[in-house]
Amino acid sequence: MASNGYRNGNKGAIKPLASSNVRSSSFKSRLPPSSNHSSGSALRRSSSAGSGGDGVPGRVRVAVRLRPRNAEESIADADFADCVELQPELKRLKLRKNNWDSETYEFDEVLTEFASQKRVYEVVAKPVVESVLDGYNGTVMAYGQTGTGKTFTLGRLGEEDTSARGIMVRSMEEILANVSPEIDSVSVSYLQIYMETIQDLLDPANDNISIVEDPRTGDVSLPGATHVEIRHEQSFLELLKLGEAHRIAANTKLNTESSRSHAILMVHIKRSVLGEEVSIPSETDKSSHFVRPPKPLVRKSKLVLVDLAGSERVQKSGSEGHMLEEAKSINLSLSALGKCINALAENSAHVPIRDSKLTRLLRDSFGGTARTSLIVTIGPSPRHRGETASTILFGQRAMKVENMLKIKEEFDYKSLARRLEIQLDKLIAENERQQKAFDDEVERINLEAQNRVSEAERNFTDALEKERLKCQMEYMESVKMLEEKMIENQQKHGCDGFTKDKCNGEGSGSSIAEDIAEVKKLLEKEAHMRKEAEKEVNKLKSQLGQCTDAGAGVDGEILKLQIALEDEVLQKRKLEEEIVILRSQMLQLTFEADQMRRCLSRGGPGNAYTGLDSPMSQVSDNGHKTPVSALFDQVGVQKVLDLLESEDANVRIHAVKVVANLAAEEANQERIVEAGGLTSLLMLLRSYEDETVRRVAAGAIANLAMNEANQELIMLQGGISLLSITASDAEDPQTLRMVAGAIANLCGNDKLQATLRSEGGIKALLGMVRCGHPDVLSQVARGIANFAKCESRASTNGMRSGRSLLIDEGALPWIVQNANNDAAPIRRHIELALCHLAQHEVNAKDMINGGALWELVRITRDCSREDIRSLARRTLNSSLVFRAEMRRLRIEL
Ligand code: ADP
Ligand code: MG
Repeated sequence: MASNGYRNGNKGAIKPLASSNVRSSSFKSRLPPSSNHSSGSALRRSSSAGSGGDGVPGRVRVAVRLRPRNAEESIADADFADCVELQPELKRLKLRKNNWDSETYEFDEVLTEFASQKRVYEVVAKPVVESVLDGYNGTVMAYGQTGTGKTFTLGRLGEEDTSARGIMVRSMEEILANVSPEIDSVSVSYLQIYMETIQDLLDPANDNISIVEDPRTGDVSLPGATHVEIRHEQSFLELLKLGEAHRIAANTKLNTESSRSHAILMVHIKRSVLGEEVSIPSETDKSSHFVRPPKPLVRKSKLVLVDLAGSERVQKSGSEGHMLEEAKSINLSLSALGKCINALAENSAHVPIRDSKLTRLLRDSFGGTARTSLIVTIGPSPRHRGETASTILFGQRAMKVENMLKIKEEFDYKSLARRLEIQLDKLIAENERQQKAFDDEVERINLEAQNRVSEAERNFTDALEKERLKCQMEYMESVKMLEEKMIENQQKHGCDGFTKDKCNGEGSGSSIAEDIAEVKKLLEKEAHMRKEAEKEVNKLKSQLGQCTDAGAGVDGEILKLQIALEDEVLQKRKLEEEIVILRSQMLQLTFEADQMRRCLSRGGPGNAYTGLDSPMSQVSDNGHKTPVSALFDQVGVQKVLDLLESEDANVRIHAVKVVANLAAEEANQERIVEAGGLTSLLMLLRSYEDETVRRVAAGAIANLAMNEANQELIMLQGGISLLSITASDAEDPQTLRMVAGAIANLCGNDKLQATLRSEGGIKALLGMVRCGHPDVLSQVARGIANFAKCESRASTNGMRSGRSLLIDEGALPWIVQNANNDAAPIRRHIELALCHLAQHEVNAKDMINGGALWELVRITRDCSREDIRSLARRTLNSSLVFRAEMRRLRIEL
């Protein structure tokens, strides 16, 4: 029990008897009755405060009910007036002292002998029941002398006459009408307290139930009591009847009567409600809000209906001859209740709540967090004036008890877990559906691409074959024609010679000299003609040769054919290009699918083209090539690289992503560089048109720059100044991270030191710290460490002398500033850089002036890595300048 459990919540609320405040407050208000909290919003406010929030004051309400005269009284007291006179409209009761004197008392409600059960319920219990439905605890208790109508008021079942139904039945009726059977639950337990033992009226064997108090909240419960879930009014009636039967049986066994025991009906209500929606500004877009769904809450409230033992026992039991012990026990709870109410009414420091079982059970009802209504029942007979007076005084004192109403609400983890589980299942199913659709889509694109490729190949081969045959035939025909022509010519010439010879032969009969001269002439002529003929043949031959050489050119058709052929070749090239695009798209899709699959199976995000410190491997764990690499083999490096210069911007973006992904795999790097990929990527950096292209190209270059052979190529192709320009005008942290990574890789090459400086690489590297992104800073620090290491190596080998170029370029302040950076990678690189710089005396003075000595000393002490700690210590110890300075400053390592 909390020490303040029964204290008054509000001292000012204790009202004097005749106070007008008492009169003006009404039982009917649904709200926790308080002049300060008389609006609906007050209740809502308190409800949102939850069980941990402050309550609202709510005084115990007290009504008085007068029983009509019974038959015996009508006869016996026929000549006497009632001992009380009621003024219900003034909510007053006059208790006659004698014929001429009376005392007046005010109550929250005054119910005459004519008040109907319905009215009694509405005035006394309904507000409490409604509060319980809203999540507050509630109590309705009947107090009075035996025979004054407590059980009549609370426990009548009214089976024959519905208008006779008492508060218990009507309350349950109201509760059942207001809860949802699917999500809410209503259960009851029914108990009796007799001689300080708690008996279960629903299970008579259970006759000594103990009260358990929650040490944290102070709430009491009866874990041993039977709880019966109620869904219908009828089952509740059966239960009440059963309880009553058990009560009679128990009392017969104990040789007592029900007026000596307290009957307590507890109704437990559990209702699920949703809290308010919360609107939260989105992190990415401050202007938009997203609404967090309302919290599921559960309200667990309790309605306690108490039919007390007859109050006359307090005074009379001893005098009626009961055994003293028994009398004490019987009355213990009731007298303890009276004492507690007195203490609370008087706001005394100690409330004897622990004195009895009843007061322990009712700790929340008086001075606690429940809304409580008390109905005091009185009889009219002047013979019981004393009892009636003490009952009235009890009611008056109870009116001074102030409760602090608090809603019984808690977070409904079970319902949230259930909801989340359903949501999760939905998401899993959706994810599976999407994955399947995605795989199908990849498959479909793949198939379509293959079909298109084979169809194009088929068409092309057919067309080529046809044209070749046609061309061949035409060529053969023209050759044949020419041959025929030539034969015709030859035949014509051959025939002429023969005719001449024959003519010459016929003139051989003249003189020999003439003949000889003639012959000579003829011979000369013959020679001449032969020459002419030879000439002619040669001419024809050369014509034939010309015909042969020109081939198709002789014929216009062949020319056309050649053009058509060229067209075909062009078309084939286009188709091939298209195939490469499709394949590269597929490559990218496959890559993304692969990423997604890994990401899903690992539960973390995949990292594309980020191989700065640790190159991403495309070779799967079992050593097989990934789908991307396999496809890459099919498509070919050159084809993909060609796409970097495609006219279509989308294709270019696509292609650069593919190249970047491929460049992350060491096995592909050589092929990419050989095929001119490095040049293409550098070109993209130069002619940047879109941040994505530039970022991805820089990522690819960073990957290639991990390889020493490529580093020199990058330098030779002007890559350092291109990267420096990008470093100075890019703003996107991811682009900067890639560029810084690329330069950091170059910084690790001994041969590039001078060029890096002369082409602005170091300045560019240092310039990128403006971005402030830890990933970028980490790459900058790595670059500095690499550079310092190379310099240090060169100095040691006697290859260079003079102060560090890093110091010349003004890197020292940033180095010192970040030597103790919170981010471990940045810190580690800088610590190494400081050690390298400190190894050469030429740097020592600048380092001391720049505050680097302190950082080095810190490293010897705080660095988490043993090797760096001892490197720093060795370096400092071996430097005369540092040693002298440390002596001066009295620093000891
Ligand atoms: P208690 O429980 O206080 O001992 P009961 O409820 O048993 O008293 O009432 C005693 C008798 O008086 C019963 O017969 C009951 O029917 C009758 N009675 C009580 N109150 C009323 C009432 N308001 N109107 C009519 N009869 C009543
Ligand atoms: Mg009774």
